[in-house]
Amino acid sequence: MTINADFENPNKSFDTYLQNTPTADGRYGKYGGAYLPPELVPAFEEITEAYNTICNSAQFINELRRIRREFQGRPTPVYHCERLSRKIGGAQIYLKREDLNHTGAHKLNHCMGEGLLAKFMGKKKIIAETGAGQHGVALATAAAYFGLECDVYMGEVDIKKQAPNVTRMKMLGANVISVSHGLKTLKEAVDAAFEGYMKEYKDAIYCIGSTVGPPPFPMMVRDFQSVVGYEAREQFKEMTGFLPNAVAACVGGGSNSMGMFTAFLADPVKLYGVEPMGRGTALGDHAATITFGSEGIMHGFDSIMLKDEKGEPAPVYSVASGLDYPSVGPEHAYLHDLGRVDYVSVLDDEAIEAFFLLCRNEGIIPAIESSHALAYAIKYAREHKSGTILVNLSGRGDKDIDYIYEHYGYGERFNLD
Ligand SMILES: *Cc1c(COP(=O)(O)O)cnc(C)c1O
Repeated sequence: MTINADFENPNKSFDTYLQNTPTADGRYGKYGGAYLPPELVPAFEEITEAYNTICNSAQFINELRRIRREFQGRPTPVYHCERLSRKIGGAQIYLKREDLNHTGAHKLNHCMGEGLLAKFMGKKKIIAETGAGQHGVALATAAAYFGLECDVYMGEVDIKKQAPNVTRMKMLGANVISVSHGLKTLKEAVDAAFEGYMKEYKDAIYCIGSTVGPPPFPMMVRDFQSVVGYEAREQFKEMTGFLPNAVAACVGGGSNSMGMFTAFLADPVKLYGVEPMGRGTALGDHAATITFGSEGIMHGFDSIMLKDEKGEPAPVYSVASGLDYPSVGPEHAYLHDLGRVDYVSVLDDEAIEAFFLLCRNEGIIPAIESSHALAYAIKYAREHKSGTILVNLSGRGDKDIDYIYEHYGYGERFNLD
């Protein structure tokens, strides 16, 4: 460590960032804010007020800590990928093992927080939409734990495509409500969930599945997820004596990445948000929102989004269903404008190659989403002769193995030796 570390730290100005971000009205620079139908304004204000109360309550914080330790199995470890790093032959790759969090991904970190908030507010039901079903399963888990009812709205097309997750949600006691208008996928499920919520917001709360939507969700989900980065920062220092040179996480709506980045914002550490470049750069072939998008409003907040010619949300695609969203959390748009996080992208094939490399060299089957972050870390390791990069392994890949086998076999077409 250098003697005058403060002088050397290019990110020193971020020391006070968390005290000022977001503003009281939920703004991240020009992004964020609330754009809601008037009927829903009081409902979200009630959630904001409740969150502002509990986030300073020792009782709430202690209860959440206990749940994380005893139910979720936290802290999850940090792991040094020695064999993979040796094979790549450059910077050393480390993983934060969110795949070992209960239910196999980071999403439970905010779902347990949201469930505890619902309990605190005296609500009987939690409501959400789900696309691939990952958020639905995590929320159904929280509902069962807290003894709450759970309505999950899901497009009819997604229900057919994601049958195992539908079964999981039902096993856990959730009502899966099929949405059969329009394209019958995520967008229609969001609309239907909002309508359902409007009818019963006195008894229910809406639980958003990422750092998106109107306040307090971008901040609240970030806060609940930030346990990932705070744990990892301490664990990494204890293992190596230093901070990592770089940190990488995949970006869909932005929750696992904000969870990882928050602890490192004021450190001399490079941060990489990894977006899915899908099949290529043409509109409709990717979901690289920050790379190609522009400012716009959808789903109740202002951020960077991918638009079609009419300015409507553009069709998006990624091999990772958890990453195909045409907008992104407003804090990412802000951190991009501030230049604090570098947003990079990875193709489907690069992510799948990284998936197989981790399977073969470390005995870990990663989620396809997380494989995007890993693919970038492999590129980084190749480009840097030394140093370290810490990857948020946001989830396990059991959910993906049938799809990957069907489309990529056992990885024969990749050079895995
Ligand atoms: C949902 C999901 C993501 C993407 O969501 P973020 O809010 O961007 O974190 C990433 N990884 C896994 C395993 C997921 O289930």
